[in-house]
Amino acid sequence: MPVKDTILNRQDKAYRHARTDVVIVQREVHIKYKKSYGGMSPYIRGIMGREHARLLYTICDKAEDHDDLKPLRFQVPRADCPECYAPTHWQELPGDTRFIVETFSTAVDLAGISFMDQLPVTVAWIKAVLPDDENTELDTLVAGMVHSEDYKKLKKGDDVRPVFRKNPASNASDVMWVLLGTAVEKFPSGYVESKNYRVQKNF
Ligand SMILES: [Zn+2]
Repeated sequence: MPVKDTILNRQDKAYRHARTDVVIVQREVHIKYKKSYGGMSPYIRGIMGREHARLLYTICDKAEDHDDLKPLRFQVPRADCPECYAPTHWQELPGDTRFIVETFSTAVDLAGISFMDQLPVTVAWIKAVLPDDENTELDTLVAGMVHSEDYKKLKKGDDVRPVFRKNPASNASDVMWVLLGTAVEKFPSGYVESKNYRVQKNF
C-alpha cells in the first residue's frame, strides 16, 4: 500500500481544533480493490436510483422459529435471519412508510476529517413504520445522516424522509435524510427527492 506523508502548513484548518501542539501530516494512500456488496446488492441498487430510488428491506417470515413468534424485518437488510438462520427475502418500503427519529447524535466541533467541511453533522437511528393496519415497525433501526437547517431543533419522534444522491457514489451515503416537509432548496447539495418517497407528504 503506497503511502506518502507531507507535513501540513500551520495555517491549515486541520489544526483549528487542536488543543496541544500537534503534528499533522497529509497522508496520501492509494488503494484500489474490487468491493462486492454481495447479498446486500439489491439494497445498494435501490438507493442508487436517483428520482426512482427505492428502500428495500429483508423479511424472515418463519415466525414459528423466532423468540417472539413473529416475522422479523431488517433494514439495513440482512441476507440471513439472525434468529433462525434461514435466508430472508426482499421487500420494498412503501411510499407512505413513516420514518421516525429514535435517537441521534450531532458532532458540532469535531468530526472525522471527511466531515470537517460539513459540521455540524447529525447521525440518527431511524425507525421505519409500515402503513399497515398494525403499524408494523421494522425490527432494526437504520442509521442515517440527517441534514437539517438547525440541528438543535431536531428531536426524538421527528418524521424524516429519505433523499438520494443525484450522481450515486454506489455506497450507503447515496441516501440521506431530511425533516418531513423540507423544501427542495434546503436539501443537502447533490441530493434529490425520489418519486417513491415524497418529502412533502402529510401523514
Ligand atoms: Zn428467521
